[in-house]
Amino acid sequence: MPAPLAPVDVQLVGTELAIRWRDGRESYLPLEALRRNCPCALCQGESTATTTYSPKKKDYSAESFVVRSLQVVGGYALQIVWADGHATGIYPYSYLLSLGEESPPPR
Ligand SMILES: [Zn+2]
Repeated sequence: MPAPLAPVDVQLVGTELAIRWRDGRESYLPLEALRRNCPCALCQGESTATTTYSPKKKDYSAESFVVRSLQVVGGYALQIVWADGHATGIYPYSYLLSLGEESPPPR
C-alpha cells in the first residue's frame, strides 16, 4: 500500500530543501524555517496530563540551519540531522507539505 503522500525526490538546494511529491507538487522549504518549526518535543515543548513544560529558549547558531543528513523514517516522515547535532526532529510528510504551502516568511 503506497503512501498517498510521498516524496519522489528530496534534494538540498543551497539553503533550501527541495521536495518533489508523487502527485507532482514541489515544495521548497528554507532550512531555517524547517529548524525553527522542528516538531520534536524538545523544541516544541510537551504537555501531558501531569506535567507541562515549555521549551527552553532556543540558542541557534549558524550550524543550526545546516543539514548534516536526511533519512526517511518509517515511510511517512523525514528525519533531519542538523550540523549542530540536533537529530530528534522527525518531519511527517504532511507537515512538510503544509510548511511548503505557507507563504514564505519576510526576509
Ligand atoms: Zn527539535
